[in-house]
Amino acid sequence: ADKIPASDLPQPVKIQQVRYTKIFINNEWHTSASGRTFPTRNPATGDTICEVQEADKEDVDKAVAAAKAAMQLDSAWRKMEPPRRGRLLHKLADLVERDRKLLATLETLDTGKPFLQAFFTDLEGSIKTLHYYGGWADKIHGKSVPVDETYLCLTRHEPIGICGAIIPWNFPLLMLMWKLAPALSCGNTVVIKPAEQTPLTALHIGSLIKEAGFPPGVVNIIPGFGSTAGAAIASHEGIDKVAFTGSTEVGQLIKEAAAKSNLKRVTLELGGKNPCIVFADCDLQMAVEEIQKGAFYNQGQCCTAASRVFVQDRIYEEFVRRSIENAKKIVIGDPLDPQTTHGPQIDQQQFEKIIGLIESGKKEGAKLEYGGGAVGEKSLFIHPTIFSEVKDSMRIAKEEIFGPVLCIFSFKSKQEVIERANNSQYGLVSAVFTTSMDRALSVSGALETGTVWINCYNAMHVQTPFGGYKMSGNGRELGEYALAEYSEVKTVTFKMNDSM
Ligand code: NAD
Repeated sequence: ADKIPASDLPQPVKIQQVRYTKIFINNEWHTSASGRTFPTRNPATGDTICEVQEADKEDVDKAVAAAKAAMQLDSAWRKMEPPRRGRLLHKLADLVERDRKLLATLETLDTGKPFLQAFFTDLEGSIKTLHYYGGWADKIHGKSVPVDETYLCLTRHEPIGICGAIIPWNFPLLMLMWKLAPALSCGNTVVIKPAEQTPLTALHIGSLIKEAGFPPGVVNIIPGFGSTAGAAIASHEGIDKVAFTGSTEVGQLIKEAAAKSNLKRVTLELGGKNPCIVFADCDLQMAVEEIQKGAFYNQGQCCTAASRVFVQDRIYEEFVRRSIENAKKIVIGDPLDPQTTHGPQIDQQQFEKIIGLIESGKKEGAKLEYGGGAVGEKSLFIHPTIFSEVKDSMRIAKEEIFGPVLCIFSFKSKQEVIERANNSQYGLVSAVFTTSMDRALSVSGALETGTVWINCYNAMHVQTPFGGYKMSGNGRELGEYALAEYSEVKTVTFKMNDSM
């Protein structure tokens, strides 16, 4: 967006009334079995945007029945040639591109994230994910495996079946696409539950699924709450796999429910307490800017947030000084205004959790360098906050804050910092800033995280796998690796009665 002249920047669209607010099953819109609805709110204003039909177990059962029927051996979806499946995904990508401004506006209204970030990150990433997995649809195949001369063995990569997807509120559309696109590419059917805070873009996708021409029942979208609709997916006997992004606590509940029901396959994308290591030989200004983007992007509501920044003692003071200067450039304001770079937190509960953690940092003796509280009286906006002199034992050093809080620690040696960086139950991402190639390679080998960024941050690509070590999750999303999470491998063995 920085390179585009201001007059050419995309603008949000005016939305008089949200069109899609019902439950999407079998390519049709349904009201909830219970008759209940729930409000979805604009976090920037507190206003209710609209009421949405509230799905519960009975609606999940209906969606699973539709997904099951669409998965039968003689169904249109099962019989569809793989290239045609790919074309449907490309078509869906084109429809998302057509509705890009509308979807970015809905995402901004529902999440409070700045419009240009929704347009250039969430929408760009969603479109790329659909095209990428559209390209894979006719390239998913097994092998012939030599055993001995009396047998011929083949492997077939088959769809798992009915895939549940439970989506968080921080990147509602993008996290949906990370699950939907590989699931469909591999030939599965899906039941998706968006987060209760942010159901609107998912429901708009329902209308595009139908328009693209996917057979009924292939994609079903059920807005509702976690403890009801979400739990019904996790424990459903008719669901073969569940993919989840959200908190580690709920991830544990989902794995438990899967184990206690039908041992459905589970992939989990959970929290992080992500270490950044800034060596004295780095390009300092670049490190300051990248790390700050990492810490404050999406109001800090990222599982990848740069939350523990270890700076070598020789450059520590300068790093803190430049971080404060850089933070002054952040523009807090109306998320629909293209100038805005920092919006509100998602809801009151998250707001209070973050303020509580900021207060704990002050009490436990961290040095508040910038920000440190709410913007105004009755809003969900929080000032980007910088703490220095953070100690490993403090709550802000250990707990995932999921808010705009940058914690700066000091270190002396490489050995020491690797140990401290790895001393966490989480292992999602990490970053290393140095101009030494040798150091970058040796440190990246030692860090216990699923991704290591060298001299960059939040550099995500649809072609590369993403996921966590330790309690940051199970399995990988994106890239070729994600195909394995949506496929079963079948071995077919032929007896050769006419061997040479
Ligand atoms: P959450 O984990 O409760 O919600 C994520 C999704 O899970 C939502 O769709 C929710 O409805 C669903 N869910 C909740 N309880 C469920 C249950 N018992 N069974 C099945 N599904 C359930 O997250 P939250 O409460 O909205 O946020 C709390 C914390 O989670 C945040 O502070 C942050 O630390 C973390 N979080 C992480 C991510 C991430 O990207 N990894 C995203 C959102 C939240």
